[in-house]
Amino acid sequence: MKHIFAFESIEEYKKHESLIQRFSDRLNEYQEILEENFALTEAPKAIVWTSAELATSIFSEIPIPAFTNKDTIYITPDLTAWRKLMIEQLDGKDLPHIQHFYENFSENLLFTILAHELTHHSDLFVDEFDEERHDSIWFEEGMCEYLPKKLLLSESEFNGITAVETELVEVFTEEYGLRSLDEFGSASYKGSLSSIMFDYWRSFLAIKFLVEERYQNDVRLVFEDYRKWHDGGRKTSLSSYFNIEQMMEKIDAR
Ligand SMILES: [Zn+2]
Repeated sequence: MKHIFAFESIEEYKKHESLIQRFSDRLNEYQEILEENFALTEAPKAIVWTSAELATSIFSEIPIPAFTNKDTIYITPDLTAWRKLMIEQLDGKDLPHIQHFYENFSENLLFTILAHELTHHSDLFVDEFDEERHDSIWFEEGMCEYLPKKLLLSESEFNGITAVETELVEVFTEEYGLRSLDEFGSASYKGSLSSIMFDYWRSFLAIKFLVEERYQNDVRLVFEDYRKWHDGGRKTSLSSYFNIEQMMEKIDAR
């Protein structure tokens, strides 16, 4: 993987240099985990480290400064910018404890966002980014949220972020809960930040439920059944194949 530094000044690069170095080292370790356990055979060609502004205005129009475009990951290592964005996604809702959580959003949690992007490159996912099919995006995005959090965070960090995202799904379900899991991203890139993020939070919780409650923590088996759904011709939606809507109702009803 090549590392490309796209900043507008040397000073700006220098500000992020040490975090980039730490993340690069940790990413190598995570890459090995994915290669050994989750069929990562081809790493992306490059990571473009850049500012939040360039990521969201020059390299893309997406309001979130971490994404994969073809074989390249783009991300900002700017923790301050991420904290600001995380608070923005609350869309002005009065949730002081969650606001406090995001004001202290840690480097460790930020690293899981970079790891999310690398996880997309696992060969266990049957769809390619540029394909027409979109009906299993929730599975891939949810898994790319779940695996880094589960593999890289401590138990208390994992429980902390899970509690926050569970509460956010509850809070925003009234506004966005009507669309099904299979419609992941249908409101993205037009809607508000909370509307975009809602799909990620909910997909994460859906995968967590599948892995931990339905499959007794056997992630491999979850991937196997997902594969069977695909090989069998995708006759029903993936969410009804996994009978997941039922679980979402449980979350929604709480
Ligand atoms: Zn993703």
